[in-house]
This record gives sequence, C-alpha cells and structure tokens, in this order.
Amino acid sequence: MPEPGSADQAPTTAAAAGDRLLTLDAAHAWHPYSAAGSADPLYPVRAAAGCEIELVDGRRLIDGMASWWCVIHGYNHPRLNQAAAEQLGRMAHVMFGGLTHAPAVDLIERLVHLTPAPLTRVFLCDSGSVAVEVAMKMALQYQQAAGRPRRTRFLSLRGGYHGDTLHAMSVCDPVTGMHRLFDGLLPQQVFAPRPAAAFGAPCPPAAIAACAELIASHRDELAAVILEPIVQGAGGMHFYSADYLAQVRALCDVHDVLLIADEIATGFGRTGRLFACEHAGIAPDLMTVGKALTGGYLTLAATLTTANVAATIASAAPGVFMHGPTFMGNPLACAIANASIDLLLATDWSANIARIEAALRAGLAPCQGLSGVVDVRVLGAIGVVELAQPVPMPLVQKLFVDHGVWVRPFGRLIYLMPPYIISRVQLQRLTDVVCVVVNGLSAQRP
Ligand SMILES: *Cc1c(COP(=O)(O)O)cnc(C)c1O
Repeated sequence: MPEPGSADQAPTTAAAAGDRLLTLDAAHAWHPYSAAGSADPLYPVRAAAGCEIELVDGRRLIDGMASWWCVIHGYNHPRLNQAAAEQLGRMAHVMFGGLTHAPAVDLIERLVHLTPAPLTRVFLCDSGSVAVEVAMKMALQYQQAAGRPRRTRFLSLRGGYHGDTLHAMSVCDPVTGMHRLFDGLLPQQVFAPRPAAAFGAPCPPAAIAACAELIASHRDELAAVILEPIVQGAGGMHFYSADYLAQVRALCDVHDVLLIADEIATGFGRTGRLFACEHAGIAPDLMTVGKALTGGYLTLAATLTTANVAATIASAAPGVFMHGPTFMGNPLACAIANASIDLLLATDWSANIARIEAALRAGLAPCQGLSGVVDVRVLGAIGVVELAQPVPMPLVQKLFVDHGVWVRPFGRLIYLMPPYIISRVQLQRLTDVVCVVVNGLSAQRP
C-alpha cells in the first residue's frame, strides 16, 4: 500500500500492478477473437462506476460501448449492487432441476409480461449463444414432434450474428463467421441476402423477393427462419425496414415455418422500443434475450416461445425438451435481472433513448461527407460511422484511450452504444472524439 500523500510512490505501485497483469495476461490469457500471446495493446482496469471505466494507471475513460451493449444502467449501480447483496444473503445458487425459486419465477413473469403476447413459455440459459442453441433445438424438436422430421435446416440473413457456439455459428454470416474454417462440421444453412430496404422505409416486393423465393423453395426442409429484428448488430450494425420484418413474419405463416427473433442485442430498449419486433408489430414464435438482461452484471439469457410450440414438443417422445444447463435460472443472476428490468421501467426510458438518439444524430453528423466515410446512421441508442476501409485497430484504440473514451471499433465500423444513463456532456465528448478520430483517419488518406 502506498503511504497517504506519497505522491511519487502511488503511480509506481499502480504501474507495477498494471505490468504484472499484462505480463501474466500475455503469458496465459485469451481475449475475444484474438491470438494467445497477441501483442495487441490491453488496458488494465481497476474499477468502473457510472459511465466511467478507471484504468489501473488512474486514467478515466467515458464508456461508449456499455461493455458490448449490456451495461445499460452504468457500472456499479447502487440498486443492482443491493439486489445482488440481498440475494447473496439468501443463496447465490441452487439447482433448477426439481427446485424453483422466486428470483427465477419473478423474472419469467416479467419476461412474459413484457414480450409479445403469444410468448408465454420461458427457458432460462447461461449466455446468448446458448439461448440461440436452445431456440434452434426447440424448433427442431417442434418439427419432429409435429411429424415433419425432414425440417432440419434454418434460413438466416447474410450479415447476421447469433453467437459463437457451433449451431449458433452456422446461422451467422458465412463470410464474417468464417464458415470455411469449419467445413464439413457446421450444418449447411440457407442464407437470404442482407435486407436492403432501409429502416423507416417500406419494403418493395423486389427487396423481399430473394428471401421469399428461398423460404418457398426450401419450405419442406426449413425448421425456422432466424434473424435479428431491425438491427443486425455484430454482423455489421445494419438497420433495416420494419416492413421487411413484417413480410418475413407473413411468409413464415404462409409456409408454416417458425420465426426466431434474436433480440439479444436489441432487447430492453436499445432501438427505441422495448423489443425491436415492436417496430413491425409482429410476434415471433421464439425469441432470445440476453446481453442487457442483467444490466451487464452476470451472464444470463432466455429463450421464450409459445404455448403451442411448448405443447407440441411435449406431445411426442421423449416428451421433454432436451436441454438443462447446470446454472439454469441462477438465483443471483435472476435477482439482478429483476432489479435491472424494474430500474429500466421505473424511468421514462423511451424519452431517454430519444434523447440519446438526438444527441448521437447531431454529434455524429459532422462525420457525414468526410472522405473515407461511407455512411453515418443512428437508431435509438446506437450510432454508427461506417468507413470505406477497415479501422487500423491498435492505433485507433490507443487514440480513443488517449482522448479519454472507451470505443472499440470492428471491421469498417466505429460505433457508439453507451449506457442509457450517459449524460449530455459525456455523450458530447464521445461524439466529439469519434469525429476527431474519423477526421484524422480521413486526413491520412491520399
Ligand atoms: C451477442 C449476441 C449473441 C451471443 O451472445 P453471447 O452472450 O455472447 O453468447 C447472440 N445473438 C446476438 C444478436 C448477439 O448480439
């Protein structure tokens, strides 16, 4: 411990702590989508509170990522901390096989109440990818129980992202999802083009024709269509027409194919509606939620479905749905999720998202028209600057940190998805820095 007031000792100790972390990390840790022992820079974190991440060296970064979109109420929130502490005093965990408890049942009740009406059956899972696996397995078991065992494939959209486990990966974009690495192992799914009709615009027949043709021609082998409603997230931050989504729903009805809406990124208000399906006024047959479910405290997700799908699965041998995670319905995670949902609904969240949307729109507007910028788009609390070239990552990451913000671009995209509690001043700083960085990148181009 540094002596109080020993000004020169504290930074040394902090630097040593940071160095120790980085050395051990480089020797043993894997980071998301990285090579072990990669030389890419890492920034050791000491703590986080509100919309700020504090590095071990004392620098504070305004958070523009909500830690991959899940920390909607900011870090270290007193109400969520309290919910966690109270639940810890009762039990951190108990198995969900043969037992039930208030945190899980209360959460299930909230999810049923908040999501589209036909979704009344809830399966709690450990992570988003698992929720997608569960939705796909439910669709497969449903078709088998309904006497259509040949319906084993899925149709998804190019540019989609649904998680990193094998079956979830099989419905991700085949190019960015690197399907060729897993040739022969991944199930071969059916891919419709990325929806071209823009958000806020109608979807003319030509813009749905390819998808409609694929659903019709593959109907006898399709268990379900799976898509991210309105916003394709990690596959490219692409916003598309609500009318397109409504038409896919209608096509699924015509061809008796299930519709899985993956709301893991869009759920809990991010797009300006509580769930993105609401933009189109549709209800899917299955829905997955995750990410923001616990306000970013613990990993938890859920798969919801209709009474009909659940009853059909139960009607045929073996009469049960074949999935049961060890940590299913973890009470600690559920208690925090309940507090997070209550916190969200206790605010005028919709006006707040509109506030963030307006600030993102105004703040990112100067990027429009810069050389090297292909598009600037904003929907709800999502602001995206799409560049012509991939972002030079380590360089740009360091630039953002040097400017005191945490923004993590991917591919050709620099985007902001801040916590909902972000202040006007913090948001202004985030958008200013994005403009400065984009401007710097465009100045470097010939
Ligand atoms: C993040 C994400 C997933 C995967 O969730 P994990 O918790 O990372 O497994 C699946 N679908 C969508 C739309 C996502 O954004």
